[in-house]
Amino acid sequence: MNIKRKALGITSGGLDSILSALVLKDQGIDVFWISFMTPFFSSDAAIRAAKALNIPLKVNDITEAYIPLLNSPKAGFGKNMNPCMDCHALMFAIAGKEMEKQKADFLFSGEVVGQRPKSQTKNSLRYVEKNSGFEGLILRPLSAKLLSETIPEKRGWVDRDKLFNITGRSRKVQMEMAEKYGVKEYSSPAGGCLLTDSTFSGRLKDVLFVQKDYEIRELYLLKHGRHFRINKRLKAIVGRSKEDNENILKYYREDKDILINPVSLPGPAVLIVSGERTVQAEKIGGLLCASYTKAKPGETTDIHIMYPDKEKTFQVKAQNSSEFKELMI
Ligand code: SF4
Repeated sequence: MNIKRKALGITSGGLDSILSALVLKDQGIDVFWISFMTPFFSSDAAIRAAKALNIPLKVNDITEAYIPLLNSPKAGFGKNMNPCMDCHALMFAIAGKEMEKQKADFLFSGEVVGQRPKSQTKNSLRYVEKNSGFEGLILRPLSAKLLSETIPEKRGWVDRDKLFNITGRSRKVQMEMAEKYGVKEYSSPAGGCLLTDSTFSGRLKDVLFVQKDYEIRELYLLKHGRHFRINKRLKAIVGRSKEDNENILKYYREDKDILINPVSLPGPAVLIVSGERTVQAEKIGGLLCASYTKAKPGETTDIHIMYPDKEKTFQVKAQNSSEFKELMI
């Protein structure tokens, strides 16, 4: 009697992970997905893909396990603060435990050999497998024929002949496969990981290695507004637009933070997370707020400051915003 095999795939919601799931489904494998979220990448695209394809998905917030990776990843960083190889190893390690819990037979992903210069070479895929703790159980259907045979292939759960040998950055074969399967919507490859962005990485380094002591909400705030490092303990986040202001306010804690707003002119919300009530916080926070309104340099404007236990309005002379360039992270 043929036993229906079950496989758990890691998905970002991108085309490659969608195709790898469909290839296995074609072989009669029961597939389901796991997707991971942190302040640096979300599961939004995975949720959309799972809905469109009707594949069960579990979303896992791995922030706590992820932060230690950012201090010194064993395999190093990519171009920015992206520890891709250790990131994948961690994801497979967590997925592997879920596989065991769900009594699935193996893991899979849409990784393609040579698609990314450092993190998707044969050696790095091997590194990921070894460091995940699930050697032999990770199948990459799109490049399987270029890689060593895995347990699911050896045991005949999956027919290796029907797997692929895709390599490199060209998306030609994947586009043809998408056409065949009728897949029309998917997110761009690696799109959305903020750790690959140089500005975001600079801000992250500042929090991890200069500020050192921080709350998780501060990591979510790194993608909003302009950031100014006033001193080791003090940073001001200045909204760039109405949307930015709204996003910054989502993370504002009345009982801990300092919030500064312009009174008479439209302008930025300025947030100082867990800021102590110091002359410097009030002075520089007020100056930043006034200087990013439409007030001309030298013009006086009213600024409102809210502490956890007190609020007041005071007047500030706007400066040219370029004068704060050195504080900008
Ligand atoms: S791009 Fe980001 S999410 Fe993707 S492997 Fe690299 S660090 Fe992880």
